[in-house]
Amino acid sequence: MRNLSRLHPDTLAAHGGGAVDTASGGVVPPIQPATTFRRGPDYAPLNPDNIYSRDDSEALRAVETLLAALEGGAGALAFPSGMAATAAVFRTLPAGARVVLQSGIYWGTTKWVRDFCARRGVTLVEVDAADAHALGSACAAPTALVFVETPSNPWLKTVDIRAAAAAAHGAGALLVVDSTAATPVLTRPLGLGADLVMHSATKGLNGHSDVLAGALVTADAGHETWARIATDRHDAGAVLGPFEAWLLLRGMRTLPLRVARMSATALELAQRLSTDTRVADVFYPGLPGHAGHDIAVAQMTGGFGGLMSFLVHGDRQTALEVVGRLELFQRATSLGGVESLVEHRATIEPDSGIPETLVRLSVGIEDAGDLWADLDRALG
Ligand SMILES: *Cc1c(COP(=O)(O)O)cnc(C)c1O
Repeated sequence: MRNLSRLHPDTLAAHGGGAVDTASGGVVPPIQPATTFRRGPDYAPLNPDNIYSRDDSEALRAVETLLAALEGGAGALAFPSGMAATAAVFRTLPAGARVVLQSGIYWGTTKWVRDFCARRGVTLVEVDAADAHALGSACAAPTALVFVETPSNPWLKTVDIRAAAAAAHGAGALLVVDSTAATPVLTRPLGLGADLVMHSATKGLNGHSDVLAGALVTADAGHETWARIATDRHDAGAVLGPFEAWLLLRGMRTLPLRVARMSATALELAQRLSTDTRVADVFYPGLPGHAGHDIAVAQMTGGFGGLMSFLVHGDRQTALEVVGRLELFQRATSLGGVESLVEHRATIEPDSGIPETLVRLSVGIEDAGDLWADLDRALG
């Protein structure tokens, strides 16, 4: 294949990372669902890259090659979900290790990491990593992993990845960045000093709300932690299946276009909401008044993503009524799909400090005017 590193990420994505079907001449890759692959009369594999599909699959390799190229990484591993990818990183920790986790991030991560650390005797320190000083203090003791999410869900906090990398490395830790909300179109954490990037590929990477998938991308394919993650995925079998890998590759062909559109529309909606008297506050890194705006401008390119939250005046009931009146925004969890979604996070994460008046939007690729009309009517 041609030298991928020469090409712009938009080109790489559009061509599915060069994953054409050279055998048939098809401009898209084939789906090969075989779980096992033949050997010749001499018992040598017909294709040494393909033995058994827990270990090897064409579509998986194609997805991983593209993900690594888009993130500017040295290697990628795809998993059956984002949580499986996150868990794969934490499972490399020895008992007694110390980890620093950003507070107020995706609830599924917080919940699983807390349980895991308690079971494994791992010391867990939770800190508001958007506060670089607080993160620096949390990294004062020797640490194995620092895990951040930027922009964070549902607060849209922005973590300075360069500063987080310096703090992590000073403590002897690897920096892992959950970059799900940014996608490699908007932020490339490895270039800012992160060691590993994690994605829920279920979200923006696939973008069509029809594949559950996760990914890790490494800056250093020779690192011992990466080797442990790869060996564990291979041996323990948390691997993405060929149909999902194929769909993810198909979804990623339009990733740059979708992210650009979602970001432009989200910024427009955030601006309108921020000057609307029916709205108490808006959390979106693209707004100049946002606490993490300067960092977002410095480390995000081409937009600020499709995720935002806002607070309505009133109480839980007011927020639920606004959410209930929306027609275009579908009431469903998740984010990053072509269709806009709305969530009342406090219902999903009770007792986690999410305000009852918080409404979270995932802005899709619909017409911005139609989306605003829906919000305007729902706000009452
Ligand atoms: C959805 C999500 C995850 C978990 O990914 P799954 O694919 O649902 O397992 C992790 N982090 C963030 C920021 C997410 O939005």
